[in-house]
Amino acid sequence: MNNLPKLQNSQYIHNYSLKDKTFMKVGGQADLCLFPGTIEDLVLFLRQYEQKDKIYCCGNWSNVVVRDGGLELLLSLDNLCNEILFNKDEADSVTVGSSVLMMKFIQECVAKSISSCEQLYTIPGKIGGMIYMNAGIPGFEIKDVLLYITAIDKYTGEISTIKVSELNMQYRRGNIPERLIILSGTFRTSHREQSAMMEHITKTREKRMKTQPITARTCGSTFKNPSDDTRSAWQLIREAGAHEIIIGGARMSEMHSNFLVNDGTATASDVISLISSVQDLVFKKTGIMLEPEIKIIGRDIS
Ligand SMILES: Cc1cc2nc3c(=O)[nH]c(=O)nc-3n(C[C@H](O)[C@H](O)[C@H](O)COP(=O)(O)OP(=O)(O)OC[C@H]3O[C@@H](n4cnc5c(N)ncnc54)[C@H](O)[C@@H]3O)c2cc1C
Repeated sequence: MNNLPKLQNSQYIHNYSLKDKTFMKVGGQADLCLFPGTIEDLVLFLRQYEQKDKIYCCGNWSNVVVRDGGLELLLSLDNLCNEILFNKDEADSVTVGSSVLMMKFIQECVAKSISSCEQLYTIPGKIGGMIYMNAGIPGFEIKDVLLYITAIDKYTGEISTIKVSELNMQYRRGNIPERLIILSGTFRTSHREQSAMMEHITKTREKRMKTQPITARTCGSTFKNPSDDTRSAWQLIREAGAHEIIIGGARMSEMHSNFLVNDGTATASDVISLISSVQDLVFKKTGIMLEPEIKIIGRDIS
């Protein structure tokens, strides 16, 4: 890593801790983290840096578990993609940088009586991560209001615009090609009374606080709900008795059996072992193989 591209307005940080960043509070560190300060620097970096397949981009870390051995190169867009632009020349749309927290975006919309993503207020992601995951709640997903994304190709540095219709987004899967790093999303907007949005947000927040351990060390739902069964993942886990498995400091939450929680002492290895043990037991008892919603990335300790 001695031959890193020389960048004018960006910052490299070596041995960047990820454990504090991830919502699960486990995992190793990034050998190197790049915070590009301008698009020009990002393009230059992507054109010159040779190990493109080692570049990993993340959002708010609310759906990612990093293995205990960490990862090679983290690209953070935190200093770059932070704008919210209510489009004037293009009626009824807003372009939001991928590093903007969904909650912040919604707050700006509500202040202007603009409806867009308020249904997703309680999900703790950033715009890039939420598009990548096609985040949603029952009856509403981000793809329902997404018009197009702007993304940069990590292999060429080329920037392009891709319409949502070209992405084939599905339940908890944005289908974003591996080579693309999302820079922004443009969403459809409409007028809605502030009070109606506030009421909706308050109700959703209250419901979530009653049913989910949102203050725990967790990445939310561990598994996707199966498409070919009427039972939710949490029901299958409970039915199989898999909510009682404990591995090290990792267990399924008593409040919501699809939320894996770290009691503060878990390693990434505990978390990953628990995910596969739950999968195995549910499969053995119900014949259904649960698909993880959580993304597991990085290296094992060598
Ligand atoms: C308490 C709690 C409740 C939750 N409830 C819900 C819920 O109701 N519905 C739901 O859908 N999810 C929920 N989640 C999961 C999570 O918040 C969502 O998946 C969210 O979309 C993740 O966004 P993020 O910014 O944290 O992404 P991260 O976790 O940082 O990353 C997720 C994925 O997106 C990729 N990614 C991130 N940014 C970019 C980018 N700019 N370009 C390319 N790829 C990128 C990452 O590489 C990774 O693969 C919940 C999580 C928690 C902790």
